[in-house]
Amino acid sequence: MASLIHCLRIIWKDFVALIYPQCCVGCMTALVKNESFLCTRCFLNLPYFDASPDQNQRLSLFFSFLPKVVSVKVYLVLNKKGLAQAILYGFKYRGNKALAVLMGRHFGTSLVLKGGLKADYLIPIPLHSDKEQKRGFNQSREIARGLSEKMGIPIKDDVILRIKQDKSQSKQDRVARWQNQEEVYAGLKLDALKGKSVIVIDDVITTGATMVAVCELIGPKVREITILALATGK
Ligand SMILES: [Zn+2]
Repeated sequence: MASLIHCLRIIWKDFVALIYPQCCVGCMTALVKNESFLCTRCFLNLPYFDASPDQNQRLSLFFSFLPKVVSVKVYLVLNKKGLAQAILYGFKYRGNKALAVLMGRHFGTSLVLKGGLKADYLIPIPLHSDKEQKRGFNQSREIARGLSEKMGIPIKDDVILRIKQDKSQSKQDRVARWQNQEEVYAGLKLDALKGKSVIVIDDVITTGATMVAVCELIGPKVREITILALATGK
């Protein structure tokens, strides 16, 4: 019953967005001049990941077995039916490419305000070409575009390829998802990363398996890796 209500709510939001395209993706109220995708109230209430001091440290520990990973930074906390979920839903399932770029800009601004990050390249995690064709864009690349604008670091998206589309991951348990990630990514021109400092970008960290697979692939070449994700669970 709860999932039916959730589905109906999503259908209703899609319907409202169709009639009133200039609505906030978070609360569906009409946007006013100078507001873009998010109303000021939702923007000011974004669920920032580092609001809790332990969260960044816990996530860094999660990737600490990867020797080249020096830092992990996440912008938003993903709560069921929360604002971050509405934003991710907006660009993953409603095709809102510009929203992904905008969130990348916001994330980039917050990183610059905290002292910024130095790196040679931003590397968005690729989608399988079938999935990218279906969606029309790779959301991680669009987030990287926004980050690149604010951080002044170029994007390098020709070094990793997603070579196998994993079967519907939602129906698999955690261990199966990990196993399924093996062999999913392949390096194309990994020598271009030799000795470089890179920032790997994903829209969301769920099990962490995707990020680990990519970091293990590029790890032997790069000097150091920083991980960025727009959102993760608590
Ligand atoms: Zn709003």
